[in-house]
Amino acid sequence: MEGSVQLDDNALLVLRERYLIRDEAGTLLETPEELFRRVACSVSQGENNDPEGRSAEMEEAFYEMMTSLEFLPNSPTLMNAGRPLGQLAACFVLPVEDSLDSIFDSVKLTAKIHQTGGGTGFSFSRLRPKNDVVKSTMGVASGPVSFIRVFNCATEAIKQGGTRRGANMGILRIDHPDIMEFVAIKRDPAELTNFNLSVAITDEFMRSYEENRDVALINPRTKKAAGKVNARELLRFIAEAAWASGEPGVIFLDAINRANPTPHVGEIEATNPCGEQPLLPYESCCLGSINLSRIVRNGGIDWQRLQKLTHLGVRFLDDVVEVSTYPSEEIRAMTSGNRKIGLGVMGFAHLLIRLGIPYDSPDAERTGGEIIRLIERESKIASNRLAEKRGPFPNFKGSVWDRKNLLQRNATTTTIAPTGTLSILAGTSSGVEPIYDIRYKRILPGGIEVEVEDPLWRKAKDRPDADELRRRLFRKAYEVSPFAHLNIQRTFQSSVDNAVSKTVNLPETATADDILDIYVAAYRMGLKGTTVFRNKSRGYQILSCGTHQ
Ligand code: UDP
Repeated sequence: MEGSVQLDDNALLVLRERYLIRDEAGTLLETPEELFRRVACSVSQGENNDPEGRSAEMEEAFYEMMTSLEFLPNSPTLMNAGRPLGQLAACFVLPVEDSLDSIFDSVKLTAKIHQTGGGTGFSFSRLRPKNDVVKSTMGVASGPVSFIRVFNCATEAIKQGGTRRGANMGILRIDHPDIMEFVAIKRDPAELTNFNLSVAITDEFMRSYEENRDVALINPRTKKAAGKVNARELLRFIAEAAWASGEPGVIFLDAINRANPTPHVGEIEATNPCGEQPLLPYESCCLGSINLSRIVRNGGIDWQRLQKLTHLGVRFLDDVVEVSTYPSEEIRAMTSGNRKIGLGVMGFAHLLIRLGIPYDSPDAERTGGEIIRLIERESKIASNRLAEKRGPFPNFKGSVWDRKNLLQRNATTTTIAPTGTLSILAGTSSGVEPIYDIRYKRILPGGIEVEVEDPLWRKAKDRPDADELRRRLFRKAYEVSPFAHLNIQRTFQSSVDNAVSKTVNLPETATADDILDIYVAAYRMGLKGTTVFRNKSRGYQILSCGTHQ
C-alpha cells in the first residue's frame, strides 16, 4: 500500500463518483493512490520515444507531484490514462462548414469526444443565415441557431464518459446576419442548456463602437452585406442579454489571432467551452494546473519548487500529447502538428490568503505577475530543452517561435483553466478566482449538492481577529469590484500564451451599462475575452452563497 493522499470529504466524494475505476457491478476497483499510480505510469510511457527518456524516474516524479496535490492534469487524463478510452485532453475545437456533410461529421465527432470527457468548441460563423437559399432542395436555410440545437440535442443524449455531461462553446461573429437571434437565444433558460455562447468581436467592430457608426452584417455564403446595425445598439443588446442570463460571453477575435503561434497553419475562430483555450479547427489540448496554495513555505513563496513543478508539468503534458489517443485522424494530425499544452495554476486566492494579501490589491497583482512570469519563462525553457532532445513541434518552421529563433517543443505552454473539478480534488480555490464565499452551497459534478466551508476559514474563524481577517483577506467573488477582477485577468493574461478562464462576478443590482463598461475595459486591456455573471441571473447556479450573513 502506498502512502495516502490527503483528500477532504468532497474530494473523496467526487473521486468515488466519477474517477475511480469500477467493475460492471459498480464495485470500486482502485484507491485514489492507485488512480494516481495508473496516471503516472501511463503518462510516463511518453518518455519511451525520447532517446534520453527516463520513464521509471519520471513516473515517480509525476506520482509524487500528483499525490502531494501540487499538480493535477485535467479530468480526462485522470479518468482515462491507462484505460481503454485513452483520450486525455479536455479541449477540442471542430470545424463547421456550410454543408450538411460537414455539420453532421462534426456532430458525430462531438459525440465521440464527449464520451471521453472532453469539451468541444465551434464557430458557426460560416453557416449561411436563416432564410438564405439552399440550391439543392430549392428550400430556405434554417440558420446557425437551428444547427446549434442539433449539437445541443446530441450532447444531451450522451453523458460524458458516463458521468460528465458534455460541454460546448458556440461562437458567432458579430457581423453574422443572425447575430441578434444568437445573442437573445439563451434568455430562454430551456434553450441550449449544454452550450456556452460567445460573440466573436473584431477590432473593426470596436472602432465602429467608439465612433458610434453602423456595421454591415455579412452573409458568409455570398460575402455580401445583408443589412446593417448600429454598433452601440448591438453591443448594448449583448450586454442586456448577459445581464439577464449570463450569456453570451464575448471573445476578442483579433487579440486571439495576434497571439496565434502558428498563423501559417490557420486562423483561430473558436475556443474550448470555458474560453481559456483558443484552438484551430481539429486541434485539441491537454491542460494541467499547479496548486499555488501548496507552494507557500514559512509565509513566503517557494520559488524553487514552483520552478521545479513548472518543468515537471511541461514534461508531463508533453508526454500526454505522446500517449493520448485521438478521436479522429484529423484531430491526431492537427494536435501532434502543434503539440500545444496548457500549464496553469489553481489556488491563487488561497495563496494570497496564506501570504496575508487581499485579492483586490496592487500586491495581489504584483504577486500574481511574479508567479505567472516565472511559470511562463520556465515553461519556455522546459519546452526548449525537450525540443533539443525530442525535436520541435512539426509546424515549428514559419511559426512565431521560429521567427523569434527559440526552438520549442510545444506551440503554446500556458493556459489558466477554470479547474472546476481539479480544485475540489486539491481542496483549494479554483483557477485565479477569488474564493466564492467562506461558506457556500456547491453542486458537485454528478449533481450532488454539498455545503462547503472554506478550509482556510475553518482554521481562522476561531481567532480573536476573525472578523477583521474575514473583511480584509477572505475577499468574496461578489465583494471584489469588476475592475479588480479584470486587473487579475490582465495580470495573468499578460504572461500566458493561451487565455485565462475568469468570471467577473457582479452583484444582483448591477446594470447593463456596468456590463458595457466591462466589455470596453476588457478590450482596451488587450484581454482575449470576458465573461460576466450577475448574481441570481440564472435559475440554476453551480455555486450559491451560504446563509451565514
Ligand atoms: N470541460 C468539459 N466538461 C465539463 C468541465 C470541463 O468538457 O464538465 C472541459 C472544457 O473544455 C473546459 C476544460 O475542460 O474548458 C477545463 O475545465 P476545468 O478546468 O473546469 O476542468 P477539470 O479538469 O477541473 O475537470
